[in-house]
Amino acid sequence: MPEQWHHFRYPGPEIGHQALTQDEIDAFGLDRWRELPRAQTPPWPDPSVVDEVASVLNTVPPIVAPYEVDQLRDRLALVADGKAFLLQGGDCAETFADNTESHLLANARTLLQMAVVLTYGASLPVVKVGRVAGQYTKPRSSALDALGLPAYRGDMINSLDPDPQARIADPQRMIRAYANASSAMNMLRAYLGGGMADLHAVHDWNKGFVRDSAAGQRYEAIGREIDRAMGFMKACGVNDDEALRSVTLYCSHEALALEYERPLTRIVGPRAYGLSGHFLWVGERTRQLDGAHIDYISRIANPIGVKLGPTTSPDYAIELCEKLNPDNIPGRLTLIARMGNGKVREALPAIVEKVTASGARVVWQCDPMHGNTIESSNGYKTRHFDRIVDEVLGYFAVHRDLGTHPGGLHVELTGEDVTECLGGAQAIEDADLPGRYETACDPRLNTQQSLELAFLVAEMLRG
Ligand code: PEP
Ligand code: MN
Repeated sequence: MPEQWHHFRYPGPEIGHQALTQDEIDAFGLDRWRELPRAQTPPWPDPSVVDEVASVLNTVPPIVAPYEVDQLRDRLALVADGKAFLLQGGDCAETFADNTESHLLANARTLLQMAVVLTYGASLPVVKVGRVAGQYTKPRSSALDALGLPAYRGDMINSLDPDPQARIADPQRMIRAYANASSAMNMLRAYLGGGMADLHAVHDWNKGFVRDSAAGQRYEAIGREIDRAMGFMKACGVNDDEALRSVTLYCSHEALALEYERPLTRIVGPRAYGLSGHFLWVGERTRQLDGAHIDYISRIANPIGVKLGPTTSPDYAIELCEKLNPDNIPGRLTLIARMGNGKVREALPAIVEKVTASGARVVWQCDPMHGNTIESSNGYKTRHFDRIVDEVLGYFAVHRDLGTHPGGLHVELTGEDVTECLGGAQAIEDADLPGRYETACDPRLNTQQSLELAFLVAEMLRG
């Protein structure tokens, strides 16, 4: 049992634990964000309903446990030290309607398949983190959508239905988001601990991909190598090892709706934990150094991430490290570069160089999705597989040149056969996009494109 379990202290006396005084709670500064400039504030029509919802969320059981959060931070410390790789992925925006057993399993399965391929390619353990069980809010570049309706901000805030009434922000949705997130996490924990993630099964799915898909043929060689490695392990008697049978999948989402994050933040011993998810990140549009979101994540003990777009200056990155990780704890801070394939080779080196020279210990992660969004000729928000791959290549090249560890990947994907991103071995074209364009927000890699990306990266990693 981790030490802190003996010091469980929640803010409220109603839990039956030793209660904190108001002064003790205030010292954590968890509400400081309320006084700071804040981008992307949900347009709640009635703040008193937000308060009512907060009083409900204040006492619900947390979605994740503090010891798991600490464990993920420790695993990310290995990534920061070049001893592990981080794979993070899932929907751009989860929806209540798609929070189903089949969707959750399909996404988890795709992520696990990618992880096996990357484990082999990198010869390193892969830390697996889903964009799941809470990814219900979206930052938007404009307040109105193309139809002139209030923009959809994620199922936690309003509805995707193109209807003025449905687009009104409704705080009660935070309770539904909580319920959906906790049931998703409950199901994933149970299934992944119960044999679904068995390495042999995952490897068999990958063999199916190599055998049956258009992309697979290119990866026959590496597929055979993995097969031989599996056979070798079996011959050595490492067949029933617990490590081969269950997998820990951590959950993550953007910490955007602070009205949701705050009540799910709990004080445990000497620290505050955001217990809505294991890993929380702040997006490109809300990362103002003196803004509400950065302040909030500075005060929780979780591993946290910040997205860095192409306008990021090296000095900003340094200030971010000082503010978010003053004790320089490895695994605490992940810097998620999302530069665009045309900019990563110019914009990233100075940032990596300066942060490295400062001695800051961070996890570097590449999000090759968000800098490469375009509109197709027929009006769909899409991304081309080639540009995604090119950004990953550029990212690896930058780290190779600087001798730093290209810690991980952050992708938007789904385990379904959607047609949202262009290209890949299936050669999806503009005219194919309407076939199965199902995302509530940004275009996701489908199963085949996701695996193709994993095999490409694995090839690159093994040199
Ligand atoms: C996202 O991850 O879905 C997102 C909105 O990213 P970014 O903040 O990098 O634009
Ligand atoms: Mn997105």
